[in-house]
Amino acid sequence: MTHQYGWEVEDCTADMKDAKPYHRRHRVCEHHSKASIVLVAGMRQRFCQQCSRFHDLSEFDEAKRSCRRRLAGHNERRRKSSNDYHGEGEMGAGSGVQWWKGASGKEREAFRRRVWGYFHG
Ligand SMILES: [Zn+2]
Ligand SMILES: [Zn+2]
Repeated sequence: MTHQYGWEVEDCTADMKDAKPYHRRHRVCEHHSKASIVLVAGMRQRFCQQCSRFHDLSEFDEAKRSCRRRLAGHNERRRKSSNDYHGEGEMGAGSGVQWWKGASGKEREAFRRRVWGYFHG
């Protein structure tokens, strides 16, 4: 069964209408947020309590509920290759290029204007 909010979690029978706000917000039912292995789109994953999303099982140490990257320390964030970190609204130097690649024409235009205003306004 598919979670109404987008996660393809197999065998999920939860009714998200009754879910707690936390689980609703992170689009996972309580059961699956605690399961050590969840099949998501056919892959074995686990819900990361730090990132509030599913990662591949290989990103976790044994029975940990937070991925290795988060446990390794938050100050590592800037240096890493930002392949799968799409932080909400983060426009720091490290992720700028990633963001630019994924931005729509409209977003790029708005960004150009802002930069232009910064230098010329
Ligand atoms: Zn579920
Ligand atoms: Zn994580």
